Amino acid sequence: MTFLRDDLTQLAAYKSPHPTDSDGEADRVQPVLDGLDTNESPLDLPEDLKADLAEAYCHQISANRYPNGDHQALKQAIVDYALRSGKIAPEIISPENVTLGNGSDELIRSVLMATCLGNHGSILVSEPTFSMYGILANTLGVKVCRLQRQDNFEADTAAAQSAIESLGTADVPPVRAVFMVHPNSPTGNALTQRELDWLKQLSTDVLVVVDEAYFEFSGHTTLSDALSRPNWLVLRTFSKAFRLAAHRVGYGIAHPAIISALEKLRLPYNLPSFSQAAALTALAHSDRLLTQIPTLISERDRLSQVLSEHPYLQVWPSDSNFIYVRLSDRGQAALEVTKQADGLVKMFEQLRASGTLIRHTGGGLRISIGTAAENRRTLANLQQVLGSKP
Ligand SMILES: *Cc1c(COP(=O)(O)O)cnc(C)c1O
Repeated sequence: MTFLRDDLTQLAAYKSPHPTDSDGEADRVQPVLDGLDTNESPLDLPEDLKADLAEAYCHQISANRYPNGDHQALKQAIVDYALRSGKIAPEIISPENVTLGNGSDELIRSVLMATCLGNHGSILVSEPTFSMYGILANTLGVKVCRLQRQDNFEADTAAAQSAIESLGTADVPPVRAVFMVHPNSPTGNALTQRELDWLKQLSTDVLVVVDEAYFEFSGHTTLSDALSRPNWLVLRTFSKAFRLAAHRVGYGIAHPAIISALEKLRLPYNLPSFSQAAALTALAHSDRLLTQIPTLISERDRLSQVLSEHPYLQVWPSDSNFIYVRLSDRGQAALEVTKQADGLVKMFEQLRASGTLIRHTGGGLRISIGTAAENRRTLANLQQVLGSKP
């Protein structure tokens, strides 16, 4: 099929790691499955809010009409939420600083198109990190400069600086966007002051994208930078703490010039009416939805504490709603593997067989925090896989 781009043969379609109803085999093998692999909230929207939404669907949304295409009401609600949750002055933020995407994935793609498409630029990422930056870049033929994080998972800013200085000379276009997750996924660490200082001194020819998908768990934000710098974009999502992964709503906050570029690339009616209504409902009840966060955080700390005491595991502190682990040397010996990766595959598969689905990524295992019952099962299943402590 010569009409297709050659490079597409190298790529694979994104496959959801969750087994679905059509995935009959997985269902037969795994009757109970705790989906702790995608960092969603384990809590559904409360029933009365779902009822409000159903009511809105019946009486306010016309199914035959296109959705509101300029998202003004939702942008204003996001501005109000930003003011409630951050230490920023009302005069520095308005709906002109906000853009909405069909999930923040759509915004990541728009950023790539705005900064790199057509060999205008490359992106820089520090791995392990969120895989979608590289995946989406590949679909657009955008080059990715991948650097390894240091042992403590801080970005290697010296290597990053020299990569930025050396690219743009040969056939690799210059770095136009640096993507950082704050706190990082899968490793859970927030940006340090040293990393922030480095990002702030970058040339304004480079767009700094700070992905704050887990802001509500960490409390850390760079929103005031996004509102005061010409080259800084904060991405957020309703898919995690706000319990709306099903609705696909993400947003970006930046200088109006960045926002207007992203708005040019957005598809006309990218956010379904029902998703806009869901996000508005979530923001109207943000205090109530977010009251569960301290519980999730204390569950995380409890799980993290127990796992760190296990001699077969290496566990990192997390600022988010997931925990990142690897096998210690003793753990590898106990599982009779010589390579870390083989041990992780063994653990991942045995956990899945016992009903706990986690994520094997970035050279480790990432475990989302679930309900108290899910976390208890995770712990019991992990202890069974690892064997009781010697
Ligand atoms: C989950 C997640 C997102 C959210 O993506 P959506 O498309 O909004 O669901 C974005 N960035 C990171 C780092 C994430 O982990």
